[in-house]
Amino acid sequence: MHQDAEFRKGVSEAVGDPRIRRTFRARMDLLMAKRRSAFPDPEAWDELRRAATRIRADSISRLPDLLQQLETNCASNGIRVHWAETADDANRTVFEIMRGHDARQLIKGKSMVSEEMGLNDYLASRGIDCLESDLGEFIVQLAGERPSHIIAPAIHKDRVQVAKLFKEKFPDVSYTEEIEALTGDARRMLRRKFFEASVGLTGVNFAVAETGTLCLVENEGNGRLCTTLPKVHIAVMGIEKVVEKLSDIPPLLNILVRSATGQSITTYFNMISSPRRRGEKDGPGEVHLVLLDNGRSGIYRDRELDATLRCIRCGACMNHCPVYSRLGGHAYPGTIPGPIGALLEPQIAGLDRLGALPTASTLCGACSEVCPVGIPIPELLNRLRAEGVRKGSEGIAGSGSRRRFREALVWRFWQMMCTRPRIYRGALSLAAGMPSVLTRLFGPWTRSRTLPVPAGKSLHVICRDRGLEHE
Ligand code: SF4
Repeated sequence: MHQDAEFRKGVSEAVGDPRIRRTFRARMDLLMAKRRSAFPDPEAWDELRRAATRIRADSISRLPDLLQQLETNCASNGIRVHWAETADDANRTVFEIMRGHDARQLIKGKSMVSEEMGLNDYLASRGIDCLESDLGEFIVQLAGERPSHIIAPAIHKDRVQVAKLFKEKFPDVSYTEEIEALTGDARRMLRRKFFEASVGLTGVNFAVAETGTLCLVENEGNGRLCTTLPKVHIAVMGIEKVVEKLSDIPPLLNILVRSATGQSITTYFNMISSPRRRGEKDGPGEVHLVLLDNGRSGIYRDRELDATLRCIRCGACMNHCPVYSRLGGHAYPGTIPGPIGALLEPQIAGLDRLGALPTASTLCGACSEVCPVGIPIPELLNRLRAEGVRKGSEGIAGSGSRRRFREALVWRFWQMMCTRPRIYRGALSLAAGMPSVLTRLFGPWTRSRTLPVPAGKSLHVICRDRGLEHE
C-alpha cells in the first residue's frame, strides 16, 4: 500500500479506537507534567535551551568537518568507522561484521536508527537472531509491533496486556500483572542473552568529534551490558548526531533527560572511546561505528530545513502534540511518529511517498515551544506542505508531487478574491444566499460536521450600517 494511503488508514483506525485516545491522553498528560516539573524556572529553561540550540545549530552548520574529525579521532582510538549512504548499506555493513565473527545472535540496545534501517528483518532473513534488550523494545518485539513512541516504545500497552503477552510467549513463567514482577521476568529472560550473544548493537545519542567518544544515554543498564559483555560492539548513528567538544555534552544531556522523562539526570550515561585496552577487565575487543546518511546530506544542504537535523530525540514534541496524543504512534508510517516524524520522514522518503505527513499538524506551535533545541517545527511543516504542491519538481525529493490542477485553480481563485474586496464581498453575499451550494462545496468537510448557517448580514455590512467601515 502507498505510504500516504497507509497513513490515512492508520488515522481512521486510530480515530475510531477509544482505547487509543484514553491511553495516550493519560500518558501524555503524565509526561507533560514530569517535564514541567523538571523546568520550574522559565529563565533557566530559556538559557539552557539557547545554549543547546547554539550547540546543535553550530554542529549542523559544520557537519562535514566534524564528521571528518570524528572519523580521524575514532580511528586513532581503535574504533572502526564505516560510512553508509543508505539503510541497505548500513544493514550490509552490520551483517558483514557479524559474518566476520561467525555470529548468529545480536543483542540490541535501543536504537531508532536501527529501526529506520529495518535491521531486525534484514538480519532475520539471513539467519541472524536479533533480540531487543530495552524493556519497551523487548515488549513490542514480542508483540510483533513497531515502537509507538521514541523514548517509550511500548507506551500504548498497559500492564495487563504485557502480562498476557509474557504468558503467551513464555508459558513457563507464572502469570502476574505486577509491574515489578513483570520487569523481573524480563530481566531474567534477557540477562543470559547478554552472555550468549557475541555481538552487541546500540544507538548513539551524541558523538564527540574532538575526542572520538560515543555517548549513550539510558535508564535500564541494558545499553551498558550490550557495550561491555559481547566481544564486538557495533554502534549505529545518523550522521547528524556529532558535536564538536566534550564540553558540549553537559548542557545537551541536561536538557535531553529533563525534556524526555522529567528526570534531572539519567540513570546511566556511557562514554565509549575505544575497544578494551590492555589491562582493562571488561569491554569488547572490537568497536565499530556505522555512520548512516540515508538522505540526511540532502537535508543538510537546505539552509532552512537543516534545522530538522538539530533534533536530539527527546520526544517532548510528540508528548505535547494534540495530533499525536489523539492518534498514537502506530498511525504514523515510517520510524519516528509525531511532529518531528512528520517533518523528518518525508524529507528522507520523499514527498511523493509521505507528503500527507506534514498535514498531520494543527500548527498550534506546542511542539516548537517545548523543543529543547528550538526547531521551528510548524514553520518547517508549512514549508514541506508548500513544497508538496509547488509548481515544477525542484527542491526536496518528491517536490510538486501533491500538486492537483483543480486545487491549484481553487487557491488561485481564492487569492484573486481575497485581493479584490468588491469581488470578495459580492461572492460572500452570493454564497450566504445559497447555503445548499456551500454544503455541496464543502462536501467531505460537512460529513462529520455541521456547516454553520451564514449570518444574514456580513460583518462589513453591519459595520457599514453602523458607520464603522473604512476602506
Ligand atoms: S524535535 Fe525537538 S522536541 Fe521533538 S524530539 Fe526532536 S529535540 Fe525533542
